[in-house]
Amino acid sequence: MKESKTKSPFAKLWDWAEAYHGGFYGSVLLAVLGVACNMLAYFGVAAMIRILLLGGGFEECVFWCGVMLAGYIGKSLFSTWSTAMSHTATYHTLRKLRESLLAKLSRMPMGTILDTPSGQLKTTIVDRVEGMEPTLAHLIPEMTSNVLVPIAIAVYIFVLDWRMGLASLITTVVGLIVASQSGKTYAVRWKGAVETGRRMANAIVEYVGGIQVVKAFSQSAGSYKKYSGAVEDNAQYYVDWMADNQKYMATMQTVTPAVLLPVLPTGLMLWTAGSLSAAHFLTIVVLSLGLTGPLLAAMSFVDELAVVGTNVGEISGILDAPELVRPKNDAVFKGNRIQLKQVTFSYGPENEEILHGIDLDIEPGEVTALVGPSGSGKSTIARLIAGFWDVTGGAITLGDCDLREIPFDQLNRKIAYVSQDNYLFDRTVRENIRMGRLSATDEEVEEVARAAGCDAFIRGLDDGYDTICGEGGGHLSGGEKQRLSIARAMLKDAPVVILDEATASIDPENEAMIQRSISALTKGKTLIVIAHRLSTVSEADKIVVVEHGRIAGQGTQKELLENCPLYRQMWQAYLGTQDHI
Ligand code: ADP
Repeated sequence: MKESKTKSPFAKLWDWAEAYHGGFYGSVLLAVLGVACNMLAYFGVAAMIRILLLGGGFEECVFWCGVMLAGYIGKSLFSTWSTAMSHTATYHTLRKLRESLLAKLSRMPMGTILDTPSGQLKTTIVDRVEGMEPTLAHLIPEMTSNVLVPIAIAVYIFVLDWRMGLASLITTVVGLIVASQSGKTYAVRWKGAVETGRRMANAIVEYVGGIQVVKAFSQSAGSYKKYSGAVEDNAQYYVDWMADNQKYMATMQTVTPAVLLPVLPTGLMLWTAGSLSAAHFLTIVVLSLGLTGPLLAAMSFVDELAVVGTNVGEISGILDAPELVRPKNDAVFKGNRIQLKQVTFSYGPENEEILHGIDLDIEPGEVTALVGPSGSGKSTIARLIAGFWDVTGGAITLGDCDLREIPFDQLNRKIAYVSQDNYLFDRTVRENIRMGRLSATDEEVEEVARAAGCDAFIRGLDDGYDTICGEGGGHLSGGEKQRLSIARAMLKDAPVVILDEATASIDPENEAMIQRSISALTKGKTLIVIAHRLSTVSEADKIVVVEHGRIAGQGTQKELLENCPLYRQMWQAYLGTQDHI
């Protein structure tokens, strides 16, 4: 990992493409063969000029025509084959890269992912990876061949007459110097472009996500300043960049192809002086015309070269991010008791400490309720138990094993986390429930839906179990979504269930149904419930009162009412709200 940080962007990119190096080497070889065939046209014309000026047979001319035709066909065949080969290797590389990125996300702490705007992740995984396509599929074979053509032609011109060789290179050298001026700032400019693009993507994702609010308050896109500002900045950035860059590009594109400008007068002078034959002069004129086309094509890849650094940097920012390290072999548990020992936690090195030395035993098969004021750290404790992050200090154990010693898959099988915003995918109801256990049969899915009390409402949907849920479950009501996610967790049948209770008040009918689903889900299981309201906790085996990241008290309701002033206060406040209903 360390080594990859010091590698150049190209070396990293080449490493990512490792499984497909054969394809890339093959495409370069075919491209070079294509170039060699392409060269035959120039040599053919040169030979014909020689034959016509110096005298030669008709058969010789026909022979060279045949050679040029074969060269033309060969060039088309080889370059097409090369392109096909490089694209196959490229798209497999991009697929593998995207798979690695997604696999990496699952090994990264949830916190890192949750704290990264989804627009940014999308841009990296979709756009930056796609941005590698021209580099891999075109730059490698085409730039190689487009550089080789002019080199071969230039060498041949030098062999014919070195003075003409020098003359034929003048415009190319000037063009390269001008292009390098633009290239100097390209990488920095591109980085800026990526930055404004990212700000725009994030603003768009946020705007679209909040479109309901914008519409509800009759706001237009223009009035959402963050969005309109980001779009404006993005456009202005490119306008400024292009205005700045155009002078270099225009000069380069004008100067480079004007190769006859130095070649014709030099050739005329040398020919007049008698030190250059007419045949060589004409041959060189023809050859020099073939010099700049491929070079200009090769220069168009300078853009690609400059963006590689940014694209690779952003992709490896994810691939090289710190991971939660877990062993490969399954841990051996002694029972299912969960213990928090002197747990401290902060969300990042710069963030303040949220939990300050939590000691807590969660007994298997019991209901443990976490209560306390909003922001006290209840969800943080629950997410640490689910393994979303590693603790900063102390330890959490499950069955006497430190969570850091339990492979992700194994911990995942042990714990079902049901949050308020359990995401439903834009797939069928059946597929969404089956996410709990992919091997479940249709019958098992329906059985669990019945047990969770969802069967009746699912059958009432247009297509029953085959109804599409919509993105984020948008086609279903809040209560229905919650019951489906409970069914999904039931199918998983994990011995520990963590339940983040809904904060928003749900209508009593739905609440009763959700409660029934939850009872079915948690029967005989260890249940940790984050209770945002006290209505549901009085029956809990243990209630844990969390205040400012510390445990202010724990025990049964009766014990807490006697010993914990904060709980008493919360309970009285709760009873007060009940009186008003
Ligand atoms: P509760 O569940 O009791 O309402 P939380 O555990 O959600 O409390 O939050 C505890 C504290 O941690 C709060 O101050 C909150 O702002 C902070 N916090 C929660 N999630 C994050 C996060 N992803 N990054 C940084 N701080 C967070």
